[in-house]
Amino acid sequence: MSNIRKTYEQKLSEMNDIETQLAELMKDERVKKYLELNDQRLKLNSELLQLYTDMKKEEFSKCKHIWIPISKNIDYYEGRSDIDYGCVKCGLDQRVLGTYNPRFLSTNDKIIYDYFLEHYATSGIRSHTLCNFDLARAMYAKIVENHPDIDDVTALKYFEVALDDIRNIRVNEDRKESRVKRLMLKPGFKNWGGHKN
Ligand SMILES: [Zn+2]
Repeated sequence: MSNIRKTYEQKLSEMNDIETQLAELMKDERVKKYLELNDQRLKLNSELLQLYTDMKKEEFSKCKHIWIPISKNIDYYEGRSDIDYGCVKCGLDQRVLGTYNPRFLSTNDKIIYDYFLEHYATSGIRSHTLCNFDLARAMYAKIVENHPDIDDVTALKYFEVALDDIRNIRVNEDRKESRVKRLMLKPGFKNWGGHKN
């Protein structure tokens, strides 16, 4: 018998042995229950993902967007520049459209990507001041927290004034740190100029 055939037959016999053991275990009520629960979990998981997706898409479609320019892509070869916008209210972020392969996007980014493909989301108002998106969202959240009934146009004005202040007032490192905490940004946040991402 060739070596390959011998190995094949050995593995086949191992496989039969495992199948017998599995069949035996399947008679156990606890094992049955385990497998049943596992199936239910898988099904629930995909239902949850679908509902989460629908929930986010509903949130995006109901939002009266406030768009902030969050990154500028300059194409020197073609001599033009594109600006990506992000909505500080719902989190729609046009940068995901520049992704090389959408399959590698996170769950949230993939939902945003699909939403942009399905919808022409350009309604709402927009700012012209380029700003880091995390900073912009944190500042907007703080404005709404302090003025719960504020309208969008006024909120955008407050945002631009606050951004101007941040850029013009030199602050020491201690104050930057407390600002990070106040705006609930990630502890390592350094991008107070807010230009690059
Ligand atoms: Zn929005």
